[in-house]
Amino acid sequence: MEPKACVLCERSSDLVPLLTIEYRGSTLRICSEHLPVLIHDPSQLAERMPGAETLSRPPRKL
Ligand SMILES: [Zn+2]
Repeated sequence: MEPKACVLCERSSDLVPLLTIEYRGSTLRICSEHLPVLIHDPSQLAERMPGAETLSRPPRKL
């Protein structure tokens, strides 16, 4: 049974807004505070999301 808590800070939705994401067939949760980590530096999540380190890519110049 996976805990319904942020993959990074492990706070539950009692404490923070949580977003539910799907990744490789698993359902994970991440809080609004850590959503930018998922967007900009997913390698930080590799421990909880195997393969997430491959999601990182160099920043694009707009
Ligand atoms: Zn968090």
